[in-house]
Amino acid sequence: MELSHWINGKHVKGTSGRFADVFNPATGEVQAKVPLASKAELDAAVADAAKAQVGWAAQNPQKRARVMMALVQLINRDMDKLAEALSREHGKTFVDAKGDVQRGLEVIEYCIGAPQMLKGEFTDSAGPGIDMYSMKQALGVVAGITPFNFPAMIPLWKMGPALSCGNSMILKPSERDPSVPLMLAELCKEAGLPDGVLQVVNGDKEVVDAILDNETIQAVGFVGSTPIAQYIYSRSTANGKRCQCFGGAKNHMIIMPDADLDQAADALLGAGYGAAGERCMAISVAVPVGDETADKLIAKLVPRVEALKVGPYTAGDDVDYGPVVTAAAKENILRLVETGVDQGATLVVDGRNFNLQGYEDGFFVGPHLFDNVTTDMDIYQQEIFGPVLSTVRAKTYEEAIGYAMDNQYGNGTAIFTRDGDTARDFANRINVGMVGVNVPIPVPLAYHTFGGWKKSGFGDLNQHGPDAFKFYTRTKTVTSRWPSGIKEGGEFSIPVME
Ligand code: NAD
Repeated sequence: MELSHWINGKHVKGTSGRFADVFNPATGEVQAKVPLASKAELDAAVADAAKAQVGWAAQNPQKRARVMMALVQLINRDMDKLAEALSREHGKTFVDAKGDVQRGLEVIEYCIGAPQMLKGEFTDSAGPGIDMYSMKQALGVVAGITPFNFPAMIPLWKMGPALSCGNSMILKPSERDPSVPLMLAELCKEAGLPDGVLQVVNGDKEVVDAILDNETIQAVGFVGSTPIAQYIYSRSTANGKRCQCFGGAKNHMIIMPDADLDQAADALLGAGYGAAGERCMAISVAVPVGDETADKLIAKLVPRVEALKVGPYTAGDDVDYGPVVTAAAKENILRLVETGVDQGATLVVDGRNFNLQGYEDGFFVGPHLFDNVTTDMDIYQQEIFGPVLSTVRAKTYEEAIGYAMDNQYGNGTAIFTRDGDTARDFANRINVGMVGVNVPIPVPLAYHTFGGWKKSGFGDLNQHGPDAFKFYTRTKTVTSRWPSGIKEGGEFSIPVME
């Protein structure tokens, strides 16, 4: 099957002659080919988006919000269809795929309130006969570049706020799983979005570079790995664009001696191995405080990890997590596991020989649990993005918080404790953007904002919530005086409001 781009309200075939394979990660088969756009295809899509944006921005905000309202209904109507397509290309379980769509949908629900978010400010009689007001205006054409691991949620996080603010958007989804973004574009049209306002341009580095250099595009929102986030941030900002880039993660969960260890072990299971560990908010490092806590935690984790059910999404509720996204991802995870063993970590659950009968060509990776990991090891330094949980033992709370503080990433973190004082101290001092207290994956809801610190985020505004409305608009402030004030003649000194 040959996939397309979505341009001016229609599926359009690629003309560059370049394609990438889209796999079914459960079987290892190529299920589609996605076109990789050229610079010329991107530039043409942007030119049409710029034309369409003028009329879209001129619609009153409530009309634009009604498109979001219709989109909410349509996504709910097609929830199962979207989740199935998502599981088929990404590999995550059907329930998890629905969660992916749902967390994106919640941002569209939030965007129904866009008219409220877009209200400006007004000062009546700021001076004699003078009014002053600020408007929040759309930027024009903006771009979203998104990763493979949330092919519904993250495109929706970008589209909802950008479009409801009156922008046109070029969406460049991951070339690994582009079908759901294309389906979402179809739903936008059905919801009443004018043609050209959302263009889905598929591709790889070539089209990304064309986006970064295109002079019409005013802002770039990126989510993906840290090296690419840094590259996109520096090239976009050098080209004068507004830019927010969210990168990789190494999320630590601290387990205090007073924590409920059954609860902590269950939390680690979901947060470490859910979606095969391919979540930017996955917990990849467990930090038990004290050897006794560590020994008890490992004893509780081992049988749980060994009992994890790995399989294709088609097996339904019988599966805890599915395959990873590509053969290359699988190879990289297993390579890192080998470095862990070689560098002296204790592999207490060894998933290296995992094999799923009937799915030998699928990209399945068995669950791995490491103990005695130290900060100089590759498995600690690098984002593994697979079903591998590392345990770093700390003697004290200070040592434990230090690991999370010193790590180059700062996306998410969690503490498990029954002590409010420790939890408060942790939440206040930690230099990480999203913090859980007895909550392992603290993903903020749509009306709050989502963003990491340190090498997990570049730019100064977060995703969704009120920040998104700041990111996708710019402020214009008007000072006006009507004719009676002008009669008095010119003023030559700087105006001062008396
Ligand atoms: P990736 O960086 O490989 O790709 C992300 C996007 O960048 C894709 O659209 C891809 O086509 C494009 N891209 C890839 N290489 C490029 C290059 N050399 N030049 C220009 N563009 C390029 O990331 P991924 O593998 O799709 O996603 C996984 C990563 O995303 C993980 O590191 C994960 O932690 C991170 N992530 C972060 C967040 C967050 O909010 N911080 C959320 C989800 C995923």
